[in-house]
Amino acid sequence: MSPLPSAEILARFVAIVGERYAVTNPADQEPYLIEQRGLWHGTTPVVLRPGNVGEVAAILKLADATRTAIVPQGGNTGLVGGQTPHHGEIVLSLTRLTGIREVDATSNTMTCEAGVILATAQAAAAEADRLFPLSLGAEGSCTIGGVLSTNAGGTGALAYGVARDLVLGLEVVLADGRVMNVLNKLKKDNTGYDLRHLFIGAEGTLGVITAAVLKLFPRPRSVETAFVAVPSPQHALDLLALVQEATDGALTTFELMARIAVDFSFRHAACRDPLAQTYPWYVLLEVSSTQTDGLRDRLYEALETAYAKHLVVDAVVADSLEQRGELWRVRETIADVQKFEGGSIKHDVSVPIANVPSFIDEASTAAVALIPGCRPCPFGHLGDGNIHFNISQPVGADKAAFLARWHDMNAVVHAVVGRHGGSISAEHGIGVLKRDELTRVKDPVALEVMRSLKRTLDANNILNPGKVV
Ligand SMILES: Cc1cc2nc3c(=O)[nH]c(=O)nc-3n(C[C@H](O)[C@H](O)[C@H](O)COP(=O)(O)OP(=O)(O)OC[C@H]3O[C@@H](n4cnc5c(N)ncnc54)[C@H](O)[C@@H]3O)c2cc1C
Repeated sequence: MSPLPSAEILARFVAIVGERYAVTNPADQEPYLIEQRGLWHGTTPVVLRPGNVGEVAAILKLADATRTAIVPQGGNTGLVGGQTPHHGEIVLSLTRLTGIREVDATSNTMTCEAGVILATAQAAAAEADRLFPLSLGAEGSCTIGGVLSTNAGGTGALAYGVARDLVLGLEVVLADGRVMNVLNKLKKDNTGYDLRHLFIGAEGTLGVITAAVLKLFPRPRSVETAFVAVPSPQHALDLLALVQEATDGALTTFELMARIAVDFSFRHAACRDPLAQTYPWYVLLEVSSTQTDGLRDRLYEALETAYAKHLVVDAVVADSLEQRGELWRVRETIADVQKFEGGSIKHDVSVPIANVPSFIDEASTAAVALIPGCRPCPFGHLGDGNIHFNISQPVGADKAAFLARWHDMNAVVHAVVGRHGGSISAEHGIGVLKRDELTRVKDPVALEVMRSLKRTLDANNILNPGKVV
C-alpha cells in the first residue's frame, strides 16, 4: 500500500483542480466516505473533483509519479466497497464531468461523460425520442462511469443486455495519465483487441473512464406491466418461456419475488398488496413495443394461457401509469426495507436460468441448516438467472451475532452456486467484499491473467489498490 502523501504532494494535487474543488473539510467529505448502507466508512486527506479530462489526466500522472493511491468514485452507490477509500487514499470524484457531448439519433448513439447521472442520460435519450435501457434502483444517483465500471445489470438486462452490451466506445485515462481514446460509434471495428471491455467491469482498477459512447434504441410506444402470483419458481420459469414466445420477444422485465420479500415491502414501505389473497411467489413482468396497439391483448392472451396451464394463479395488469408505479414500488423497495427486519446477509449470484428453482431450494435448505430460523428472502432478475439471495436474521435474534456468521453463510450459499456452475457476483462486482472469495472460486489461470493485466496497466498499483485482485 502506498504511504500517505506528504503535505507538499497534497498541495500539488489540490493545485490541479483548484482549492474550490478539493474537499478537505471532514464534514464536506462525509458523502464521499460513507457507504450508503453504513457497511464501510473510509478516510481521505482530500476528495479531488476535476472538471475535465485534462485535470483527470494530470491527477493520475502525478499520482503515478508520486506513488499515491487513488480511489475513483462516481455516485457512491456501489454495494461492494469498491468506491470507498479504506486506507486513506485520495478520492477522485468524477461527478463534475457531466457533459452529454452528443446525442446522435440517426446513429442511435449518445456520448456521455463519466459523471452524468444515469437518470439524466435516460432523459436525454428520451428527449431525442430514443431509449437508453439501463435501469436500476440507484439510477437517480449512480453515474455512467460507475455503472460501466461495475458493469451494472438492472431490470432491463433481459431484453437489452448489461452495461457492457450498451457501450460502443470509451475514453479512459490510464494510470500513468495518458488518455486512451477509443471513443468511436462503430458497431463494426475489428482493428485488434477490443480494449473497451478491459475497463468495463474493472471497478476502477485499470483506468479511469471519462466518457463513453452508449447505444440507443427505439423508444417503446406501449408498455404493459403485470404483477403475477405463481405457485413456485419452476412455474415462474415456465411462465417466462411462455410469455417470451407468446409476445414475440416483447418481454423486457421478469422479476421473481418470494412472499417474504414482498411482505417486507408491504410492512415497511409505502406499498400495498395488489392482489386480494396471499401467494408464495410473485413475478413482476413487463412487455414493451414500438407499436401503440395490440400489446395489452397479447399480454392478456399469454396470461390466460398461463392460467389455463396452472402456471399463474392470480394477476393484475396495471391500468394507469400510477398503478404501474405502485407495482414497481413493491419490487424496488425490497432491498432497502430488509434493514428493518434486522441483519441481512447478502448474496448477488447467478446460475444458468434453468437451475434457478433448484438453486433457491438447495440454498434455502443449506442456509436454514446453518442458522436455524434464518429467513431466506430470494428475489431478482429471474430472466437473467440472477437472484439476490438475501437472508434475514431469525426473528428476535442478536443482529451482531447473526452478521458475524456472514462468511460462514457465504461459504454455504456459494458452494450451492458452484455446484450449479454459477457466479458469486452477478452484477454488483467484487470490490473488497468478495475479493478473498474470488481467489477461492475463480479459475487460477484466469486470476493470474487478471493480475498480469493489472501489473501491465497499473505498474505502480495506484488505481484502487486492494480492490478486485
Ligand atoms: C438502491 C440500489 C440499487 C441497485 N441496483 C442495482 C441493480 O439492479 N443492478 C446492478 O448491477 N447494480 C445495482 N446497484 C449497485 C450498482 O453497482 C451501482 O448502483 C452503480 O453501478 C454504481 O454507480 P456509481 O456511480 O454510484 O459508482 P460508485 O459507487 O461511485 O463506484 C463503483 C465502482 O466503480 C468505480 N468507478 C466509479 N466511477 C468510475 C470511473 N469513472 N472510472 C473508473 N472507475 C470508476 C469505483 O472505484 C468503484 O469501484 C444498486 C445500488 C443501489 C444503492
